[in-house]
Amino acid sequence: MENKKRIGVRVIIGLNKLLFRLIIGLMGLFRIPKPKLQSLFIRANNRLVSRYRVKVSTKELLLLLPHCLQYKDCQQKISDDLDLCEGCGRCDICQLAQIRKKYQIPAFVVDGGQLALAVVNRGNYRAIVAVACEEELEKGILESALPVLGIVNRRPEGPCRNTKVEAGLVERAINHFLEGKQSLQESVDTISMPRNNNYRLTLPKE
Ligand code: SF4
Repeated sequence: MENKKRIGVRVIIGLNKLLFRLIIGLMGLFRIPKPKLQSLFIRANNRLVSRYRVKVSTKELLLLLPHCLQYKDCQQKISDDLDLCEGCGRCDICQLAQIRKKYQIPAFVVDGGQLALAVVNRGNYRAIVAVACEEELEKGILESALPVLGIVNRRPEGPCRNTKVEAGLVERAINHFLEGKQSLQESVDTISMPRNNNYRLTLPKE
């Protein structure tokens, strides 16, 4: 019964992703800026995922973080082990490492979508909480067969450098999967849209 439910959720999420692709393609014809489209897609995906009560164990939940969250001059090799963060507070990895420890979930810091997919394929995961820019989240969500809650990072210094994320949002997304509740309904939009993010940083030039 549980297996049937899992397959059902995967099929529905897969079909909806196909639908999103089509809608995004059509909206692109109306020259809506790509980052805006991607944000809409991520928000729609999060709404969809949060509607299904996917409950997983701590071992089955994967937390994926982008390397640009780590302070650019930090020498700690945290990619496979967030516990190696020394907690100096210069970047948000500090709080994320504490959250990982609290919930004892697998977490990896990766450079780009290909590495993220390799990490996903290495384990026996059933759900993913991912932090990244709109571009990487869109690709990751579309390529993954698993339910993903995507949290867009903030980029106060521009793309790929000293980016930020609200640790509280990451924890809420983790709780959503671990508790299997529809606890995200009221905060899905907050999770999907980076607060105070300046879209002008990522918009293509006219
Ligand atoms: S908080 Fe951790 S990862 Fe960030 S700069 Fe300090 S030691 Fe490095």
